[in-house]
Amino acid sequence: MIITPLGTASAYGDSAQGWTCNLLNCKLLLDAAPQARLAMRSLKITPDDLETVIITHTHGDHIFGFPFILAERSPDLDPLRVIGPEGTEEKLVRLCELAFSHAAPDKMVVQELPSRKVSEIRAGEYHLLAAPTDHSPESLGYKITGPGGTRLGYSGDAAWSTGLKEILAGVDAAMVEMTFIDEENDEHLSLQQHLPLLMEAVPAPAPIFLTHLGRHRIEYLHALQKMARTLPGPQARDIFRVIPVEELKEYSF
Ligand SMILES: [Zn+2]
Ligand SMILES: [Zn+2]
Repeated sequence: MIITPLGTASAYGDSAQGWTCNLLNCKLLLDAAPQARLAMRSLKITPDDLETVIITHTHGDHIFGFPFILAERSPDLDPLRVIGPEGTEEKLVRLCELAFSHAAPDKMVVQELPSRKVSEIRAGEYHLLAAPTDHSPESLGYKITGPGGTRLGYSGDAAWSTGLKEILAGVDAAMVEMTFIDEENDEHLSLQQHLPLLMEAVPAPAPIFLTHLGRHRIEYLHALQKMARTLPGPQARDIFRVIPVEELKEYSF
């Protein structure tokens, strides 16, 4: 599988890269951040190339780009499939109606998953396991298994929770929010508090990509260097697989 970041900032992060969203194999859009369509354009990917849009939760930094994608989707194609938690359809319909008449809701079909329990669904060649991540009442993270059996853990926005651990178990790569470096917060992860837990949950040598960054990547790199001096030996030696993704173009696994 190939994961391509289209943005890496948190809702109020100061990265110039745009808010967090990603493409998987250029077919699955993981969240529809405000700049998603622009970022796709720079990669010459059109809304007609998308098979499925997967939404983690309905905060603005994760869905406000959706109307721009639906507006340019060809009406001759099958409706764009959207998978998301409870409440996704109502919010997307309202957004699209506010935005453009040609972002007509009949150009999409939304499948909502339960927000408070683990569920599974197929999306074409992909298998999705969704689990609650204790960020907002509806928020879900996903373990996405590709056609060859490769697994990506995708946290969306998340607090440390059993749902998040379930998503990360046994994966080949993880894309995990890390909004904070040292602040304590019960809706997001913080490097100081959660990195050791994260490195336990994601089996080595799978890379751990940090996204939804609340500060610049260089500050995360400095914090990781500092932490390497205090982590237990095996984790300190393994810290090279933890990568803040601000400048990552794409990753194949
Ligand atoms: Zn967010
Ligand atoms: Zn959020």
